[in-house]
Amino acid sequence: MTENTHLQTNSDNHLVIGGCDTTMLAAEYGTPLYVMDEQAIRENIRMYRNAMSRYYGNEGLVLYASKAFCTMAMCRIAHQEGIGLDVVSGGELHTALQAGFPMDRVYFHGNNKTPGELILALESGIGRIVVDNLQELAQLDKLASEMSKTINISVRVKPGVDAHTHDFIQTGRIDSKFGVALENGEAFAFAAKTLEMPNITLTGLHCHIGSQIFDLEPFDVTAGVMLGFMAELKEKLGISIRELNLGGGFGIKYTEDDDPVEYDRYIESISKTVNRICTEKGIERPFMLMEPGRSIVAPAGITLYRVGTVKDIRDVRKYVAIDGGMFDNPRYALYESKYTFLLANRMNAPKTDLVTVAGKCCESGDLLGKDVTMADAKPGDLMAVLATGAYNYSMSMNYNRNARPAVVLVRDGKHRVIVQRETYQDLVRNDLIPDDLVP
Ligand SMILES: *Cc1c(COP(=O)(O)O)cnc(C)c1O
Repeated sequence: MTENTHLQTNSDNHLVIGGCDTTMLAAEYGTPLYVMDEQAIRENIRMYRNAMSRYYGNEGLVLYASKAFCTMAMCRIAHQEGIGLDVVSGGELHTALQAGFPMDRVYFHGNNKTPGELILALESGIGRIVVDNLQELAQLDKLASEMSKTINISVRVKPGVDAHTHDFIQTGRIDSKFGVALENGEAFAFAAKTLEMPNITLTGLHCHIGSQIFDLEPFDVTAGVMLGFMAELKEKLGISIRELNLGGGFGIKYTEDDDPVEYDRYIESISKTVNRICTEKGIERPFMLMEPGRSIVAPAGITLYRVGTVKDIRDVRKYVAIDGGMFDNPRYALYESKYTFLLANRMNAPKTDLVTVAGKCCESGDLLGKDVTMADAKPGDLMAVLATGAYNYSMSMNYNRNARPAVVLVRDGKHRVIVQRETYQDLVRNDLIPDDLVP
């Protein structure tokens, strides 16, 4: 599901998600409110899973990159749907553990895992640690031998495809904080080093070239580069790499300007490339992993806000302020991300207005959208921002001591809270006033 086909409008001209009238959800749970459509999440996962088995046989696994939206209920859904999980911190790992996620299907990424996080990973019997660099490799080797554990690892590789011809490759270039590079021999040296470490076995190669990518081609180019490296390791070091993880990054539709391909086409295209190159080079087909995050949850989620102040500054700009902002969705403030805005209580209102949607934080940059076309919003209207299921709740914060919204999971007219709204008491829960704090 690359589009918001799960959204409907009822006879009252209210926006409906998962069979629930959004005005009812807002009345019951308050605003701002994250709403996630359970069926849409499951359909997205199944689309990837089915494509993997259709195009690559039973030799692949889809991992959900949990950083996009990491909660215990989401981990449970991923578990129920039979896929694996990516985590990039002790906190995400803890969430998966608390949700009872099978640890053998958890992959631990990150460019600067702390010793504490590595120990937690080793203790929990995690499936793979995706080691980022030589320093981390040495650290892990030391910890694993101290704890008498053996661990299968992957290495994070920067495939370094010529950035000139492939500008879309954002995190796969040599100038990136993630991983070891191919072109300067770092990745090769890393692999060689693992041979001296009895507690560590290098079983996989990993890369992740960026996010919100719409083209198929970069993934094919990357697959070629990675398979070439796999063959080199076999030939020169005798290392048999069994797993190839080609990352995530598939694009979704935020606005009408985005034109994503169906998710199964990515898997189809990559599978065909891997199959072809393996046949050509006479190398054994690796177990394949793909790890989408955004594309599984983003289209499934919306955020509901109540419109407050509307400031129409003549000949300048019209600001529509909502009761949320960068504290629940910092993506515009971070990278001017684009969204689609609807009036959930008046879906039939003509979209004739040009407005700037502002949050309530004390930052001029606290916007959700600049110069967006939508219906004429009035104080008290219910605004829906679409495709907020990824990197919204997971990036939320308490700036200005705003409490994070609740997350409600909807399906067939049912609605259940999966993350409670924070209270003012939650905001001061960890605050302490020292006894000896005197003037
Ligand atoms: C963020 C990330 C993903 C998921 O990226 P999306 O754009 O959300 O699909 C996958 N793998 C790694 C290593 C990542 O850092």
